Amino acid sequence: MPELPEVETVRLGLEQAMAGRLLLRVLQRRPDLRRPFPPRFEARLTGRRIDSLSRRAKYLALHLDDGAAVLVHLGMSGRMLVGRQSNEPFGAHDHVVFDLDDGGRVVFNDARRFGLIDLTETALLSEHPLLRDIGPEPLGDAFTPTVLAGRIAGKSSAIKIVLLDQTVVAGIGNIYASEALYRSGIDPTRSAHSLKPREIDKLVPAIQSVLTEAIAAGGSSLRDHRRPDGELGYFQHGFKVYDREGEPCPDCTCREGIRRLVQGGRSTFYCAKKQR
Ligand SMILES: [Zn+2]
Repeated sequence: MPELPEVETVRLGLEQAMAGRLLLRVLQRRPDLRRPFPPRFEARLTGRRIDSLSRRAKYLALHLDDGAAVLVHLGMSGRMLVGRQSNEPFGAHDHVVFDLDDGGRVVFNDARRFGLIDLTETALLSEHPLLRDIGPEPLGDAFTPTVLAGRIAGKSSAIKIVLLDQTVVAGIGNIYASEALYRSGIDPTRSAHSLKPREIDKLVPAIQSVLTEAIAAGGSSLRDHRRPDGELGYFQHGFKVYDREGEPCPDCTCREGIRRLVQGGRSTFYCAKKQR
């Protein structure tokens, strides 16, 4: 599932392809994804200009010149494909096609259909039912150690699980929770409310640095290695622990190396010596 850096990379790629462009044709190829498409979806978008694109948590918004906003979530397997030719045949999972006035084509493709597309207004976006309860953006000014401390106070679940809660902090998933806890030396199984202020003082910048580095890696993947299939958002990134069970621990001298455990049905990667 894409996390904040992957979605931000998709936003950057879509901005290059779509910002300032008119939507000459919008084709909706099935009635629903995770939920039905909004009524008259094609008609409400056709002819409009895309002024800009933004991201909130793992959601993308396309801001149209009439004040409307197209809200997109990629779900588990949703992909935005750029660079298709207008004479190419559609694939089975190509669900929405955006044809632009410069001849470009952007395709929303989603094999498992956990993604969703909704239509709202830019002015109402922060009050949208899917967005209004989401916690602060981790790279925004509102995310500080004091704020995180307040949001995890009284939560007895493991800190790894709590970091995945989108109402605590936005956009963090399984990969970046493991990476940030490793960097800050915090045992992922600790109760969230047991974290000391000095540990939260390390955790917040660790979250911010793993996300910032991943966004930078995604940005360079856009410039340097655009994938031949035009898929945006996935890139090679050097994780320290994620998916490295049994490998040497990069930052310490432990002999056991990276371990894996399962929390909430999902894998956590960690070092038992470095993380206390
Ligand atoms: Zn280690």
